[in-house]
Amino acid sequence: MTGPAAQVPLEEPADVVVGGTGAGGGNVIRELCMKGVTVVALEPGPRIEDPDREFEEDEWAMFHKLAWLDPVLTAGTDVTGLAAWLCKTVGGTTTHWAGAALRFQPHELKARTTYGDVAGAALVDWPLELDELLPFYEEAERRLGVAGRVLPPAPGNTNFLALQKGAEAQQRVPKRSILPLSAITPDPSTPPASLAVLPSTANPSDNRPSSTLC
Ligand SMILES: Cc1cc2nc3c(=O)[nH]c(=O)nc-3n(C[C@H](O)[C@H](O)[C@H](O)COP(=O)(O)OP(=O)(O)OC[C@H]3O[C@@H](n4cnc5c(N)ncnc54)[C@H](O)[C@@H]3O)c2cc1C
Repeated sequence: MTGPAAQVPLEEPADVVVGGTGAGGGNVIRELCMKGVTVVALEPGPRIEDPDREFEEDEWAMFHKLAWLDPVLTAGTDVTGLAAWLCKTVGGTTTHWAGAALRFQPHELKARTTYGDVAGAALVDWPLELDELLPFYEEAERRLGVAGRVLPPAPGNTNFLALQKGAEAQQRVPKRSILPLSAITPDPSTPPASLAVLPSTANPSDNRPSSTLC
């Protein structure tokens, strides 16, 4: 969020109305607007104007600030009465997610080839290679604020800092950085081109942080 929302008269016409402004709605809205379609977004939650002040590193406190606690009607037999941890705010749950979204590894796209004929399973190979997906992963990670590849890793939380302190005392300092290529490709000598340049790309995030704020 970079500034106050534009004020638009309520009678302003629009081509499309989108309900919700999270990862799903927000990206639909963006795509439509980029194509010149006028959009009205309906969002029942308030806008967080100053996340640096309003977000706390305390999940329970944030639950009370952000969670959708309105009574909702559900169908089915497995209703527990628990509020779903969904955020009612401009940006939806995506304002508060942890920014962890793992990419497929090459062998996961080739489950049939990798694991063979597994009894009781219907494994298939995807008709795609990982490097065909990489531009889409990169775009999605940039837009959603996925931590650790296109955008920098999320800042360490208190658990991490406590572990780091212990590890430093033991002289075993954890490395909090982008995974080495060897961890994500079976043959690091021939990595997909896009992956190979990511860690050294100059300012790939335009100075935006990844999305985890607490
Ligand atoms: C603490 C936390 C950590 C998470 N961490 C991760 C993670 O690391 N990795 C991961 O993959 N996922 C994570 N998730 C889950 C992830 O955040 C959600 O799956 C994702 O944000 C959902 O996006 P969405 O667009 O579907 O919905 P949301 O982002 O929830 O957006 C829905 C929006 O619709 C609005 N809305 C609801 N009803 C209506 C209505 N009737 N009319 C109009 N608007 C409405 C809501 O107010 C909300 O703004 C996390 C979730 C939480 C709570």
